[in-house]
Amino acid sequence: MVKDIATPIRTKAILEKHGFSFKKSLGQNFLIDVNVLKNIVEVTGMGEKDGIIEIGPGIGALTEQLARRVQQVEAYEIDGRLLPILSDTLASYPNVHIHHQDVLKANIKKMVEERMIDVKEIAVAGNLPYYVTTPILMQLLEERLPVKRIVAMMQKEVADRITAGPGTKEYGSLSIAAQFYAEATKEIIVPKTVFMPKPNVDSAIIKLEIREQPPVELADERFFFQVVRASFSMRRKTIWNNLQHNLVEKEKKETLRSAFSETGIDPQRRGETLSMEEFARLSSCLYRLIFE
Ligand code: SAM
Repeated sequence: MVKDIATPIRTKAILEKHGFSFKKSLGQNFLIDVNVLKNIVEVTGMGEKDGIIEIGPGIGALTEQLARRVQQVEAYEIDGRLLPILSDTLASYPNVHIHHQDVLKANIKKMVEERMIDVKEIAVAGNLPYYVTTPILMQLLEERLPVKRIVAMMQKEVADRITAGPGTKEYGSLSIAAQFYAEATKEIIVPKTVFMPKPNVDSAIIKLEIREQPPVELADERFFFQVVRASFSMRRKTIWNNLQHNLVEKEKKETLRSAFSETGIDPQRRGETLSMEEFARLSSCLYRLIFE
């Protein structure tokens, strides 16, 4: 059996051998616990005929575990200093291909079309760099990639917001955005001690099961998200105040009033109490009144 990269001793040895120093600005907190990595692989649900797109392979700790399980791994790493390390640590995994690229600038859809033709199903996995967790996830979701699920490690606080439901303090536009595209579940809470260097906060692994159909019917998707964002812009304000100030012009105040009365939603409620279905009804009604 090949030795795992992710033991503390082996990780230290790899870093020393290559004279690697962590860049905090790139969110480099490497996993040094093989069980946590195996958990991530397990949650992807992928098997030997499937493929994985990995975000931020680092020195290859997760990449290696994924490569042992699936047919093909395509990994995006921004830090060029890690490339020679990865070709060393992953030398015995010909099924891994590293893209030296900022994942936010990558055309993943094209890569999938060109390179992942022989795999049965695809999942995205990654121990995400903390400074760009949300933009990365939103881009992956909005792009509507042909993937079954996304399994990602992130700060627990962000995981809480993504998976939150109405009426909780974590619930906001990020919860609605993520849950519009996927069924989001928090899978495992991970202590900070399993990372090198140790971050300041605990983390969580979440699973985003991509929806085949949107969970709500919308008159216009872009307008729905505008309404959602505007409704949360000042959390302490009522939805009426937020929408009046941040969405519709003064002369449309009457239209806004009609939308609330037609949908039967109380304008004095706060955004955080509205379900996605209520936001869908409100935004669709308002869209029809304003634009149709
Ligand atoms: N997967 C490794 C592990 O679990 O040990 C490393 C995870 S570390 C939290 C995040 C990785 O993402 C780092 O290797 C970092 O260089 C890389 N990274 C940061 N920003 C990135 C970006 N915009 N695109 C691609 N990779 C990025």
